Amino acid sequence: MPLEIVTVPCLADNYAYLLHNAATGQTALVDAPEEAPIRAALTQRGWTLTDILITHHHHDHIGAVDALRADSGARVIGAKADAHRLPALDVQVSEGDPLTVCGESVRVIEVHGHTLGHIAFYFGDTGAAFTADSLMALGCGRLFEGDAETMWASLSKLAALPADTIVCSGHEYTQSNAKFALTIEPGNSDLISRSEAVAAARAKGQPTVPSVLSEELATNPFLRASLPQVKAGLGLQGSSDAEVFAEIRKRKDNF
Ligand code: ZN
Ligand code: FE
Repeated sequence: MPLEIVTVPCLADNYAYLLHNAATGQTALVDAPEEAPIRAALTQRGWTLTDILITHHHHDHIGAVDALRADSGARVIGAKADAHRLPALDVQVSEGDPLTVCGESVRVIEVHGHTLGHIAFYFGDTGAAFTADSLMALGCGRLFEGDAETMWASLSKLAALPADTIVCSGHEYTQSNAKFALTIEPGNSDLISRSEAVAAARAKGQPTVPSVLSEELATNPFLRASLPQVKAGLGLQGSSDAEVFAEIRKRKDNF
């Protein structure tokens, strides 16, 4: 049975996610930006945390880890490569390590680029990937530590997941990402209709996450750097996929 997923808005524009197994009562949290809204979401449902999964070391993803583990005794799981700059980890994971959370087997995917040490969690039975600041709705994280080639390789791993994968990313940046995406592919009809849907959701104060991988593949410029029409639109027909990705990322940084 798929796990229940709850999206928890935190801070100005962050998202945390709760995963719950109704049969066993286990509850996992992916990233801990802020204590109060996560506690409220748990209390409202009568859930207690059993696991806290950390995607990367930035403060807006780990700030509330220690407070939330203090009373729940939750097991904290994060990247072995980043153990030195994460809250104390009970379980350190690298890509491909066996991991079971809420009774479901989880694939750890290293998605370096935004940081070196960023991981994503793929729950195959539920069909959900927790990507935080790697693949985002209509965007991707800034390259703070990795280079464009590294991030392109990371995004390519996520792009290869089943197309119906639910993409649970870390921030509400979608509307500005849509404005930028339209500068790369002004004629992409899927992108135009998604931009309208995003604007309508935001006008009502609704989150634009999670998204579905198939819609990211159809509209997210950072996943589309390998397509001939995208390369041609940028005048980069002869360039490698990673070079085109680098150009798109650079334009976004200056947008
Ligand atoms: Zn970050
Ligand atoms: Fe972040």
